[in-house]
Amino acid sequence: MSPDAAVIPQTADALRTAFDRGVTKPLSWRLGQLDALRRMLTERAAEFEDALLADLAKNPTESQIAEIGFVVGEIDHVRRHLRRWLRPRRVSVPGALLPARASTVLEPVGVVLVIAPWNYPVQLLLAPLVGALAAGNAVVLKPSELAPATSAAMARLVPEYLDRRAVAVVEGGVEETTALLAERWDHIFYTGNGRVGRIVAAAAVEHLTPVTLELGGKSPVYVDDSVDLAATARRIAWGKFMNAGQTCVAPDYILAPRSVAGPLAAALTDAVRDLYGADPAQSPDYGRIVNDRQFERLTGMLGSGTTATGGERDASARYIAPTVLVDVPRDAPAMSEEIFGPVLPIVTVDDLDDAIRFIRSGDKPLALYVFTERAAVKRRILTETSSGAVGFGVPAAHLAVAGLPFGGVGESGAGAYHGERSLRTFSHEKAVLSKALKPDTLQLIYPPYTEAKDRFARGLLRKLG
Ligand code: NAD
Repeated sequence: MSPDAAVIPQTADALRTAFDRGVTKPLSWRLGQLDALRRMLTERAAEFEDALLADLAKNPTESQIAEIGFVVGEIDHVRRHLRRWLRPRRVSVPGALLPARASTVLEPVGVVLVIAPWNYPVQLLLAPLVGALAAGNAVVLKPSELAPATSAAMARLVPEYLDRRAVAVVEGGVEETTALLAERWDHIFYTGNGRVGRIVAAAAVEHLTPVTLELGGKSPVYVDDSVDLAATARRIAWGKFMNAGQTCVAPDYILAPRSVAGPLAAALTDAVRDLYGADPAQSPDYGRIVNDRQFERLTGMLGSGTTATGGERDASARYIAPTVLVDVPRDAPAMSEEIFGPVLPIVTVDDLDDAIRFIRSGDKPLALYVFTERAAVKRRILTETSSGAVGFGVPAAHLAVAGLPFGGVGESGAGAYHGERSLRTFSHEKAVLSKALKPDTLQLIYPPYTEAKDRFARGLLRKLG
């Protein structure tokens, strides 16, 4: 067993002791930890930017927008509202139980495990941490071994800034995660692919541990002939080729009527040039594929259709150009699994009915994007399809709206977070009812049951409910 795996039971025990002693419960502790996390992200931003550059060739500006600054924004939002969100919420009491008062209070669940993937290795590890700390929990963070520089930065910096009694980082891969999953947690928050999601869910069953599964899948885009294609193409290209397409909410493929597909492919070619220049390999703003295995998998998709732009690759640099493919058959390799890279197929559909039928024939997507000026099309998309989120006119950006729950449905996940939803995800909502002993209005329903009580039960009681 690896040294990291061997100490996992002790780490879990130590955190539970801290939780049981009440270390994490005071609001002052929670706010202090959020402040410390914010300080870590601002004071040591350069170290995180360097790590992201090493792991994914992520441009530092993009690291600020999508990772470091994103988490800072989440902290500020939660910090601003936490006191109010934590207030007990009054609930009305049915007449038959009056006089009485009912409310709900949020309590921390205990010790939680956060397992993150490699593609946004700062955001996806620390945004759940914000919610877990705000809710007053102790936390184990498991960064992805596939973003090793970021994982090492987390292991180095988190204990320097946060309360070591209540927050721990466990680095490692399958062996360490398997050992973590053997422990009893009060919540497991997993982001990654559905295959491992099933392993996590199965392990959680053992202790009846609630899980949040933030998974992926194919997020479709539908474009009709009512929109400005140049503006549409810029939005899609930005959402798709950010982080070299390795984004869970990236547009996976486009559905478009034949009259739109050709002009849209041309507009996407222009948009790619505007964003990354004539040779994206030279652009400091364009990322690289995380490892050779992913590179091989993605190159197998490049022949899925006719290349409108891109197609170039360089194995030694793990570079794949932003690639747009047209006339892609519905059973092409690029259409058989989540792409998760810079390959964008355009599949021709007859009309909106055909597009909706196609979307519904697959798994429920994490996100669905629609570019149309027609209100009736938007309405039909909302009512006739199911997905974690819908974006009209913009991909990916819904995740930056702290008031929107972020999560999937069906194969794209279960549960959600961000902002207040994170607090609720990592809390138990406890029901509280208080009723004075006098007057004892419940006498009306205590045995022995009389005819009068029976009449009361059949009539008045129901009305009072
Ligand atoms: P990954 O390979 O880094 O795996 C995620 C985590 O699972 C890692 O911490 C890893 O150590 C752990 N893991 C891997 N194999 C395991 C095993 N056998 N047992 C236990 N734990 C194991 O990342 P990934 O899964 O390749 O991430 C990409 C996927 O994640 C895509 O499908 C993407 O869409 C999805 N994703 C979803 C979101 C979201 O917020 N919904 C965000 C990012 C990525």
